Amino acid sequence: KDRVSSSLPTQRAVQEPQMHFGEHKKEEEVECQENIKNVLTPCLLCQKRPRDGNILHGRSAHLVACFKCAKMLKKRRLPCPVCNKQIQMVIKTFVG
Ligand SMILES: [Zn+2]
Ligand SMILES: [Zn+2]
Repeated sequence: KDRVSSSLPTQRAVQEPQMHFGEHKKEEEVECQENIKNVLTPCLLCQKRPRDGNILHGRSAHLVACFKCAKMLKKRRLPCPVCNKQIQMVIKTFVG
């Protein structure tokens, strides 16, 4: 008898606004801001020096450590501390 209250077709319509281009852009902006914040925090390993040792693996790199710590990881044949990929190269990075 109470079938009217159990079926609410309006709820679905409200939660499905047709995919807007703006939404995706917003997400990218947040990610970008997050990146900037991360760059400003010190080295993940020593927590002292700035993040200027870029850890390269394939076509991407992670900037999470200072040059000294990044080189130490490479020397010890340790993987990238973020994604565990094999470190191919460590480069000193300057922000210009
Ligand atoms: Zn460091
Ligand atoms: Zn990585």
